[in-house]
Amino acid sequence: MDNAGNMGNTDSFFAFVGDLLLIRSDPEPSLPVLSDLEGLPFSDRSPGLGSDQRPGNRWASLGSDQKLPRGMRLVSLRDVWGILGENAFCEAGRAFQLMEWSRRNCYCGHCASRMTDIPGETARQCPDCMNTSYPPVSPAIIVAVEKEGQLLLARSSRFPKGRYSILAGFVEPGETLESALEREVMEEVSIRVKDISYFGSQPWPFPHSLMVGFRALWAGGDIAVDGNEIEEAAWFSPGSFPDIPPSISISRRLIDDFLARNGKE
Ligand SMILES: [Zn+2]
Repeated sequence: MDNAGNMGNTDSFFAFVGDLLLIRSDPEPSLPVLSDLEGLPFSDRSPGLGSDQRPGNRWASLGSDQKLPRGMRLVSLRDVWGILGENAFCEAGRAFQLMEWSRRNCYCGHCASRMTDIPGETARQCPDCMNTSYPPVSPAIIVAVEKEGQLLLARSSRFPKGRYSILAGFVEPGETLESALEREVMEEVSIRVKDISYFGSQPWPFPHSLMVGFRALWAGGDIAVDGNEIEEAAWFSPGSFPDIPPSISISRRLIDDFLARNGKE
């Protein structure tokens, strides 16, 4: 069967072993369709399988002891971007998040009754207390702060050795994106920012974030790291950059945008 071009196709099917995605590797990498997976013993699968045409809605999980079909292999969600592109990454991320949400919301968190799917919606409801659950999306801001042609880069203890990136943090209840950004920058490096402008966003399914990217300018204060989340931070000129994140992330796109505007590709 010729599956070329099925990326982003509504027939694409997302089967996971743990958090690894099953993809076709022969004759070339592509997303499988359901008929590729016939006969596999799914331990869990999306409701309404075969009828729901939105990409990413069709998922299933397989036991880790399952022998893989010929011509298929398992890849991490992060690797999907490099192998199959951004659309496939977003759709696989959606499938993974729906699967995780589905598993964690079998029972009502309020009264412990069994939840049921709401037809036509991506939601579950408790038949006894009407508590409704939707797949969570957690917004996080990510910001490129500039000062006189230099970019603020910081090292988190969670990063690989030598890696620096721009600042990021989760939005808390009651905050606007802008106030979350101002708070995060102040907490992590003790500086104030101004002229916050929207750059773009990226779903980040680890486990269910939406990264919202901004540019901002330094407005005052000297860098003083919190010593907790951030080990080290400094202003970097183009040409003297440390190791930065790989190109699939919005952090890298923001850094590349800074470099393009400041004389370095
Ligand atoms: Zn309930």
